[in-house]
Amino acid sequence: MKIRQMPDSLANKIAAGEVVERPASVVKELVENSIDANSTWVKVEVFEAGLERIKISDNGDGMSAEDCERSVYRHATSKIRNENDLFHVKTLGFRGEALASIAAVSRLTLKTSTGEEAGTFLELEGGKVVNKTKSDARQGTEIIVEDLFFNTPARLKYMKTIHTELGHITDVLNRMALSHPDIRFEVYHNEKQLFRSSGRGDLLQIIAQVYGMGVAKKMVPVEYSTLDFSIKGYAAKPEVTRASRNYISTLVNGRFIRSIPLNKAILKGYHTLLPIGRQPLVVLDIEMDPILVDVNVHPAKLEVRFSKEKELFEAIETTIREAFRKETLIPEASQPK
Ligand code: ADP
Ligand code: MG
Repeated sequence: MKIRQMPDSLANKIAAGEVVERPASVVKELVENSIDANSTWVKVEVFEAGLERIKISDNGDGMSAEDCERSVYRHATSKIRNENDLFHVKTLGFRGEALASIAAVSRLTLKTSTGEEAGTFLELEGGKVVNKTKSDARQGTEIIVEDLFFNTPARLKYMKTIHTELGHITDVLNRMALSHPDIRFEVYHNEKQLFRSSGRGDLLQIIAQVYGMGVAKKMVPVEYSTLDFSIKGYAAKPEVTRASRNYISTLVNGRFIRSIPLNKAILKGYHTLLPIGRQPLVVLDIEMDPILVDVNVHPAKLEVRFSKEKELFEAIETTIREAFRKETLIPEASQPK
């Protein structure tokens, strides 16, 4: 026989190639886990743009000793149980792949406690458990990822400068803060504080922190709902534009997503208000029944598919258009019939 089932360690390393592209992917996956664990506080400490060390601490649910050991197995998750759950995903994670993948390409340490029993300390190297003891952890979870890609030299070589990698991490964390204003984030690079949010749930305040006070002052609140969608957020007045699309943040059920047609619908909403070639600055929080959105499209879950696409894009366009009509920026006569 020529065909052989791969050992888990090899399968995990292969999966890591997809899930863990760079340090920012580790930060994204770990912070998503903290959010899914109902944390109200998440602290992110990175060293040398995460290539040396990434430490994420939260005050969430924590894990029992057994769960902690299972959490690093491939396809092990507490978030879905059967096929039916896959159509009703309300959490950011559900694939059960992140910890196994990260563990496969780094030195990983977990310290966690549910607050009810003694906490657990688990240490892995290249996916293999090298140490497991009780710990005195308080409720919540602390995960440290060191020497990322130490055993995948090709990937390590591909890493860009500290500056570039840190830029990716900052992007991820900005999106996390924008999509979860009710969580208090603290972010440090080489022990220097880069960002902190209050966790008081005020989106405009986060916008001010991420994009500056000047921008926040030019944001117009938007709100619109249909039977299927509820859309809320802020759209910058047309005088505030950017050259890149990166300032359009679209969240679906708390998940930051990328969608070109959705961006187009936003632009259509602005109609002729934007100068040609310029992009608006927008943060839209879209809520819908999870059955209407397929999140199982992309390993990093950045892309999704909508089942009522046309209705959604129309709703988005209307949301933006109505906001600026109220501002009397679009004269009635130029409204599409
Ligand atoms: P997924 O998020 O898709 O379930 P992960 O590999 O990211 O897969 O995590 C595996 C499991 O470990 C999660 O389902 C969750 O039960 C547990 N877990 C991971 N991180 C945390 C955390 N910060 N707090 C509590 N539980 C966690
Ligand atoms: Mg996860």
